[in-house]
Amino acid sequence: MILPRFDYKKAEDIASAIALYEGFKGQARYLAGGTDLIPLLKLRLATPAAIIDLKGIEQLKTITREGGRLIVGAGVTLFELKNHAVVKEYFPALYESLDATSCETLQMRGTIGGNLLQNTRCLLYNKSLDWRKARGFCYKMGGESCNVVPKAKACFSNYCSDNALSLLSLSAGVKIAGPKGERKIKLEKIFSGDGKNPFTLKPGEILTEIHIPLKRLRGAYEKLRVRNSIDYPLLGVAVSVNNKKGKVCVGGIGPTPLAYDLEDLEGASVKELAQKARQEAKSVSNTTLSPAYRKKMVDVLTQRAIKRALKEGK
Ligand SMILES: Cc1cc2nc3c(=O)[nH]c(=O)nc-3n(C[C@H](O)[C@H](O)[C@H](O)COP(=O)(O)OP(=O)(O)OC[C@H]3O[C@@H](n4cnc5c(N)ncnc54)[C@H](O)[C@@H]3O)c2cc1C
Repeated sequence: MILPRFDYKKAEDIASAIALYEGFKGQARYLAGGTDLIPLLKLRLATPAAIIDLKGIEQLKTITREGGRLIVGAGVTLFELKNHAVVKEYFPALYESLDATSCETLQMRGTIGGNLLQNTRCLLYNKSLDWRKARGFCYKMGGESCNVVPKAKACFSNYCSDNALSLLSLSAGVKIAGPKGERKIKLEKIFSGDGKNPFTLKPGEILTEIHIPLKRLRGAYEKLRVRNSIDYPLLGVAVSVNNKKGKVCVGGIGPTPLAYDLEDLEGASVKELAQKARQEAKSVSNTTLSPAYRKKMVDVLTQRAIKRALKEGK
């Protein structure tokens, strides 16, 4: 499949990237590794007038320790982050989710910023224009219905970042730069809850840094996928725990991750939390696995991830 025509601009720093974006009056998209964006362009699911390449911005590629946090530039590749000494030692859930992301070749290309801001996916959305025209456009394509759930009022596309889940379990925050200046927010605040437009970032804003509190935690990441060698999550569960409490995040099922506090690490509370997550997960027929199976696996993987997080690292 060939790419559509667009202007290509390479930014040297964050300010010039934002200025370039503004020059195209909102008709531009930022490019990092391109592993999510390029397929969308080829399928005509994104048709920007211009692509602004962020790969030349050195400031986005650093990892530093500052003020009790690990500060990760949004342009750091998944592979670099996975192999950073602090990640394996302090954040096992993040190490495991990075390791489970697609395959090593893609990890070397894809960035952590692009991973967090990847578009939501649906079996009936990530298709060619001809295929979609024949079926009729859904909410996410600008239509007025859902092709998966008749009469649904909203889009059920799945947010498939493995690493958003582990970063949420680590209480990460993000720094964003845009035409109106910089702001810092908790990671969970980037999600709108709407599958059609899944993020709260404003036009022209760039995700510049991810901030992770530097606490040595126990943790685990469990992922359901068809091919273990390379596949998006059809469900993911990340858990990070200290001595007394934990944080559990469930994703790959619906447009936004679900997050839970685990106040008590005893067996009964773990089961209760897993059942709550199972009830709240909205699985519909928009992946290769059945909704009932994915829903059941929320319970199974949540319990499995918590047990492993508690056992390992003791
Ligand atoms: C075959 C295949 C398998 C995959 N498997 C997985 C998987 O198992 N798990 C998983 O999580 N992902 C998976 N992915 C998705 C993707 O490869 C990764 O999420 C990757 O990390 C995306 O990063 P990128 O740098 O390539 O993003 P890009 O494609 O460059 O960008 C993604 C989106 O983010 C925006 N963007 C990028 N950087 C910034 C920034 N700094 N500020 C503002 N906007 C920005 C872009 O405009 C674009 O909309 C897979 C992709 C493919 C093709």
